[in-house]
Amino acid sequence: MNIGIIGSGENKFSPNKRSRAYKIIRRILADHPGATIVSGHSPVGGIDIWAESMAKTLGYDTLIFSPKQHIWEGPHGFRARNLDIAQNSDIIYIIVVKDYPPGYNSRRFDLCYHCEGHPGKKHGDHIKSGACWTGWKGIGMGKDVRWIVI
Ligand SMILES: [Zn+2]
Repeated sequence: MNIGIIGSGENKFSPNKRSRAYKIIRRILADHPGATIVSGHSPVGGIDIWAESMAKTLGYDTLIFSPKQHIWEGPHGFRARNLDIAQNSDIIYIIVVKDYPPGYNSRRFDLCYHCEGHPGKKHGDHIKSGACWTGWKGIGMGKDVRWIVI
C-alpha cells in the first residue's frame, strides 16, 4: 500500500499547528504499518519534508518525487511531480491549514482556488495549497483522497 502525505509549506504553520501536524503525520504512519510513504520533497518544506523525515526515522519505505526544476510545466517540474505523487499513491492525505499564521507576509489567498467549484466544496475551508491540485488529480484517477484541515 502506498500512502501519499503532502500539504502546506512550512511558513504556513504557527508553532502550535506545526506540532499538531507532527501528531497527525505520526498517526497516519501508525494507521498504515508497512506502507510505502509517498511525498514530494517540497522546496518550501512543511508537510512533505516532515512526512518524509518521520517515515524514514520510523523505518518506512519511501517513494519521494522531488521536483528537479522549480517550474510548473516541463519535465520533472511541479506539475509532473504532482501527477507522479497522485499516480503512485493508493491513499493521499492532504494536510492543509485553515488560516495564515500571525505575521505571515507573503501573498495571501483567503480561499483555496484549487478546491473552489469542486463537488467537495466543503474543502474550501482552508488556505490555498498546491497539494489540493494533486488531491483533485488523484480523485480524477479514482484514488482515496483525504483532506485534513488544521
Ligand atoms: Zn484546497
